[in-house]
Amino acid sequence: MEPIASGPPIILAAFLVSAGVTLYAGIQTAIVGIVRHRVPLYLAFAAMSFCATGFQFATIGYYSAGSIPAAALALQWQASFALLFHPALFVFVALYTRQERITPWFVAIALAFGGFLVANLVAPNSLRFTTLEAATPLRFPWGETLARFSGPPGIENGLVRAAHLGVFFWATWRAVAHFRRGHRRAALFLAACILLVVAASTWAALIDLGVIDSVYVTGFSFLGLVLLMSASLGMELHDQTTRLEATSVELRKENEQRGKAEQQVRRMAYQDHLTGLANRGSFHERLAETIVQAARTGQYGAILLIDLDHFKTINEALSHDVGDQVLREVARRLIAIAGERAFVARLGGDEFVMVVSGVSTHQQETIATARELAETVQSDLSKALPVGEHVFNVGASIGIAPFPSDGSTSKDILRHADMALYRAKNLGRRTNELYAPAMSVAADERLKLERSLRVGLENGEISLYFQPQIDAAGRLVGAEAMMRWRHPEMGMILPASFIPIAEETGLIHTLATWMFERVCDRLVAWSQAAVPFDGVVAINVSPWQFTRPDFVLQVEGTLTRSGVAPSRVTLEITETALLYDLQETVRKLTALRTLGIKIALDDFGTGYSSLAYLRVLPLDQLKIDRAFVNDLGIESGRALVESMISIGQHMKLQVIAEGVESASQRDTLLSMGCRYFQGYLFSYPLAEQEFLRWIAENHQATGPSWGR
Ligand code: C2E
Ligand code: CA
Ligand code: CA
Repeated sequence: MEPIASGPPIILAAFLVSAGVTLYAGIQTAIVGIVRHRVPLYLAFAAMSFCATGFQFATIGYYSAGSIPAAALALQWQASFALLFHPALFVFVALYTRQERITPWFVAIALAFGGFLVANLVAPNSLRFTTLEAATPLRFPWGETLARFSGPPGIENGLVRAAHLGVFFWATWRAVAHFRRGHRRAALFLAACILLVVAASTWAALIDLGVIDSVYVTGFSFLGLVLLMSASLGMELHDQTTRLEATSVELRKENEQRGKAEQQVRRMAYQDHLTGLANRGSFHERLAETIVQAARTGQYGAILLIDLDHFKTINEALSHDVGDQVLREVARRLIAIAGERAFVARLGGDEFVMVVSGVSTHQQETIATARELAETVQSDLSKALPVGEHVFNVGASIGIAPFPSDGSTSKDILRHADMALYRAKNLGRRTNELYAPAMSVAADERLKLERSLRVGLENGEISLYFQPQIDAAGRLVGAEAMMRWRHPEMGMILPASFIPIAEETGLIHTLATWMFERVCDRLVAWSQAAVPFDGVVAINVSPWQFTRPDFVLQVEGTLTRSGVAPSRVTLEITETALLYDLQETVRKLTALRTLGIKIALDDFGTGYSSLAYLRVLPLDQLKIDRAFVNDLGIESGRALVESMISIGQHMKLQVIAEGVESASQRDTLLSMGCRYFQGYLFSYPLAEQEFLRWIAENHQATGPSWGR
C-alpha cells in the first residue's frame, strides 16, 4: 500500500472547501426556504446542496481510503448521494422552471433512483465497479498523491449514468422551455449548470472506463451548480423584492386615490353638486336629528319648503345653463337669509328647504318666526336676478310645517310642508301657507285624481265642450274649447280641478296635444258636414306647453296635417306664460301670428299685467276676466273694466268679456265699447252635439239672438 500523501493535499483541501461551501449554501437556503414563502423550491435546492456536500465528503473518503473495504464504503456513500441528488435536482428544476403536475414524474424518478439506491447499498463494491482493486495512485506535481481503487464498471454503472443523463436531458428541455417563456437569465443559468455537471459526469465515465487517467471532478461541478443556482435564486429574489416594492408603492397610490374618490362620493352623497347645499339625504338626516332634539328640549322648530314659481318655464325656454345659474343664485340668497338661524338644503329641481330649530317653546311664536322668514325669502328672491342678458324675478311659494308633531318623522314633516306648499301655489303662488291637518285629506284626494287622470285620458273620459262667443250684433263669431272629464265614479270633473294636476305631472302635454288635434279634427268634420260655423275656435294654452321649444312647430304641424286654416284658431295664453322671458315669448308669439293664428290674452287683469309688457306683445285679443265682469255692479269695478277696455282699444286689440251672465252686464259692457262677449247669458259650454244644435237654432236668427 502506497503512502497516502506526501505533498500538500491541495485536491483534498479543495474538495473540503467545496463541500463546506455547498453545506453552507444548503443550510442557508434551507433556512430561507422555511422562513420565506417559496418553501418547496428552496427546500429542494437545500436537499440538492446537502447531497452535493455528502457526495464530496464521500469523494474525499474515496481518495483517502487505505483499503479496499474503505474505498468500497466510500464509493457506496458517493453513489448514494449521487442517487439522492438527482431526484432533488428534478424537483428543483421542475419548480425552478415552473413545471406543472410534477408528482407522477417525481414518483417514477424516486422509484427508479430508490431502486438504484437499494441495489447500490446491497452491492459489495457499489454500483460503480463489479470488483475493486488498488490502482496506481494519482500523483500531482506538487507532490500530492491520491489513492485509487477501481475495477471494471458493470452494466449497473452504465444504467445509473444513463438515468443521470436522462434527468439532465429533461432539465435541458426545461431550460429551453423556460427560456422561450421569457425567463432568459434564469434559463441560461440552468443551462450552464447542466453543461457543467454533464461534462463532469462524462469525465467520470471516461475515467471509469479507463479511457483517461485523472481525478473525478463531479464534486466540483456540483459546487459550480450550487453556486450558479444560488446566484440565480438570489437574483430572482431580488427581482421579486423589487417587484413587490413597486407593487406596494402602486397599491399605496391606488389606496390614496380610492380614499380621495370615496371622499368625493361621500361629499356627493351628502351635497348637492350644483349649489353646494346639503342634498335631500343629508336634509333628512339633519331634520331627523333636529326633531329628536326638539322633542327632548321642548323647543319647536319648522321647515320651510320653498318652490320657485314657474322655474321649469325658465329651464325649458332658455338653456339649462341659465336655469343652473338661477338656482345657484337662489341658493346664495337663501344661505344669506338663513345665516345662523336656519339650515338650508336643496331637495332637487327647484325645491329648497330651510330648517329652523330651537326657536321657542311656544308653537305660535315659532310659526310667527317661520312666517317672517318665509316673507323675507319671498321678497329677497323677487329682487332682480340677472343672468347673462336676462333679468328674472323669481317668485317662490312656500309651505311651512312645524315640528315636532305627534311623533311625525322627517318624511312626514316634509310631506306636511309639501301639502302646505301645494295649497300656497293654488292660492296664486308667491304666497306661503302653514300646514293644517285637513290638508292631508286634500292631498290624498289629489293623488287619487292624478292616478285616474292618466287612466281617464287613455279611456276616452276626456271630452271637448264649446262655449259660443258672440259679437255686439249677437252673431256667433267663435267658440272657446274647454275640456271636460267625465269620471266613471266621480262624475263630471271641471278643468280647474284637473288641469293643475296635469300641469304638475306633465300630463298637460299629452292632454294639450290631444286637445289641439281634436279641435282641428272637429273643424274639418264640421266643414265637411256643412255646419254653418265659420268662426274661430279658441284653445287654452297652459304656460307649460307654451314654453316648450318645439311648441310652434307642433302647432304648425298639426294645422298642416289637418288642413285647418290657421286663421280659424285662437290661442289663449295667460300672463304667467309671459312672466319669465319676454324676448322668447315675443319670438314665439310672432312666429304663431306669422302663421296666421290669433293670440288672445286670457284672464286679463288678474296677473301681473303691466302696460310695458302689453305694448311689446304681438296680441289680437284681450279677454277681460270674469271676476271683473262680476264686479260691474260696483262703482270701482266699473271703472276698472272701463280702463281695461280703453287700454285694449288703444292698442287696437279686440276686447272680449268673459263670464257675462246677465243682460245688464252685457249692456254696461256694450256702453263701454266692448264688442265681444262670452258667458252663461248666451250659453254654457256645450258638448259638441249640443253646440251644433245651438248653432242650428241661433245662427239663422236675425238680430240679437241673446235678447232673452
Ligand atoms: P278660462 O280660460 O277662463 O275659461 C273660462 C271658464 O269660465 C270656463 O270654466 C267656463 O266654463 C267658465 N265660464 C264661462 N262662462 C261663464 C259665466 O258666465 N260665468 C261663470 N261663472 N263662469 C263662466 P272651465 O271650463 O271650468 O275652465 C276653467 C279653466 O280651466 C279655464 O279658464 C281654463 O283656464 C282652463 N281650461 C279649460 N279647458 C282647458 C284646456 O283645454 N286647456 C287648458 N290648458 N286649460 C283649460
Ligand atoms: Ca280661456
Ligand atoms: Ca278666462
